[in-house]
Amino acid sequence: MWLKFNFLLLIIIFILSCAGTKYKLTPEAQQIKQNLTTLPVSDVFQLMEGTPYRTPAFVFEGREPGSSVIIIGGTHGNEPAGYEAALRLVKRFGQEGPRKGKIIIVPLANKLAVENYSRRIPVPEGVDREKGNLNRCYPGKPDGYPMEQMAFAIQQLAIENNVEAFLDLHEAMRPHLENDPEDEEKNLGQTIIYHPNEPSTWLVMLMLDMINSVIEEETNRFSSLERPIKNSAAWWAGNYLDCAAFTFETPRSLPIDERIRYQLILVDVVLKEKGLL
Ligand SMILES: [Zn+2]
Repeated sequence: MWLKFNFLLLIIIFILSCAGTKYKLTPEAQQIKQNLTTLPVSDVFQLMEGTPYRTPAFVFEGREPGSSVIIIGGTHGNEPAGYEAALRLVKRFGQEGPRKGKIIIVPLANKLAVENYSRRIPVPEGVDREKGNLNRCYPGKPDGYPMEQMAFAIQQLAIENNVEAFLDLHEAMRPHLENDPEDEEKNLGQTIIYHPNEPSTWLVMLMLDMINSVIEEETNRFSSLERPIKNSAAWWAGNYLDCAAFTFETPRSLPIDERIRYQLILVDVVLKEKGLL
């Protein structure tokens, strides 16, 4: 009897702990997500329409022509500040629109990974699991595994709109300035990873100046890192479009509101500099 009871208890604890690892969107993001279909936008279309991976891409056009910038959230489902920020941007530009130019936002790029709070989605047995990691699938393939198809759809969107900046919003475990030199594992939190070309280098300096002026805690300051990892979105955009290309990384060890704020400040610097705000 006791044994049975203990066993039952263990199962309940296990179920509860699994549920606890999921992420619950902030009420603000939840509300935006629920109202995504009724937003006033210049254009909205579905990437990978007709599949379980289907996800919306929003286009917000200004009154005058200008630069185009693409912003991606939810590339990794367990990096919530990225998609929390992207959803807020969708709401914001739905209300006011950019001053000029064009902002393209894919807030939940790997929708199923976001729903499962996971880094990647599963792939068939025997296949490299990184084929389920959207940020290792660029430039993608129109007939590849699902995330290769998603990477292909996103790169098509960037090419068709002739983007001048590609922003991919991510998170890491802890701030990189907390890294122990003895430790092999390196945290990337509070970094801007950029493709080493002229448009990125200029923007990275502006972003660091701006963001670090609002951060008091020294270990929470941002730094820049060159060269996004191969087959990532920023790697592709930098190499193939030669545009400003970034991965923003905030650390999950900080409060969610603070991380969302950092993501939004960095995005704002780029949009202002490109003349969209
Ligand atoms: Zn990531």
